[in-house]
Amino acid sequence: MEKFQVTLLTLFPEMFPGFLGHSLAGKARENGLWDYHTVNIRDFAQDIHKTVDDTPYGGGAGMVMRADIIEKALLSLKTPGRLIYLSPRGKPLTQELVQELSHEPSLTLLCGRYEGVDQRILDACAFEEISVGDYVLSGGEPAALILMDACIRLLPGVMGNVNTAQEESFSSVSGGLLEYPHYTRPAVWTDASGKNYSVPETLTSGNHAKIAEWRRKQTQEITRLRRPDLLVKKE
Ligand code: SAM
Repeated sequence: MEKFQVTLLTLFPEMFPGFLGHSLAGKARENGLWDYHTVNIRDFAQDIHKTVDDTPYGGGAGMVMRADIIEKALLSLKTPGRLIYLSPRGKPLTQELVQELSHEPSLTLLCGRYEGVDQRILDACAFEEISVGDYVLSGGEPAALILMDACIRLLPGVMGNVNTAQEESFSSVSGGLLEYPHYTRPAVWTDASGKNYSVPETLTSGNHAKIAEWRRKQTQEITRLRRPDLLVKKE
C-alpha cells in the first residue's frame, strides 16, 4: 500500500499538521501510513516585499492571490497528483468523495486566503474545487485539515476496527443515511437532578436480529427527521 501523500500550498505552513498531529492521524503518520509537506506560496513572490496578492480587476473589497506566483509554487512540485482548490464554490465534500480521495496516492491542496485566488490559475491547471460546507472560512487551511482528516481515517490500518469505519453515517453500509444512536454503561443513568434514563430495552436483549432491526429503523427515522434529502437521494 502506497503512503497517502498530501502537499499543501499555503501562506500559513505553520498551521499544519495542527490536530492531525494527534490521536489516530498522528499515530498513523508515525506509522508511515500518510505524510504531508507544505509549500509556502510566499517563497515564490518576486519582489522585496514578498507580495502574493493584488487588488481585484473590476474593483471591490479585498485582495486576490496572484496566478503567476501560485504557478511557480506548483511548478516546484515533483509529483503534485490530484489538484484541489478548497473553495466555498466547490462541489460538496461528501463521504463518497472522501472515499475516492483516500485512494489517491497524492493530493495537492491549494489553500486560499483573502478573497480567493485568480481564476486563471484554477482554469489553466484544471484545479478541482471542493467545499467543506455552505459557510465561509477565513482561509483554506482548516478546510484542508478537514478533508485530510476524513481521508486519513479511511486508510487501511488507521482505525483499529475496520467495521466501525464502515457502519457510520453516510457510509454505503448505512445506505448513505445517518447512523443510529449509541448507548453504553451504566444501563440506567441517573442525572444530577435525580432523573433516570434507561438504555432502550432491545439493546440489552441479546437478540442480534432484533438489535439490527432496531438500528435499521432508527437510521431511517433519524434521517427522515434530520436529513430527508438523503432519503430522496436514495430513491
Ligand atoms: N470570496 C470567497 C467567496 O465568497 O466565495 C471567500 C474567500 S474565503 C474568505 C478565503 C479562502 O478560504 C478561500 O479562498 C478558500 O480557500 C477558503 N474557504 C472558505 N470557505 C470555504 C469552504 N466552505 N470550503 C472550502 N474552503 C473554504
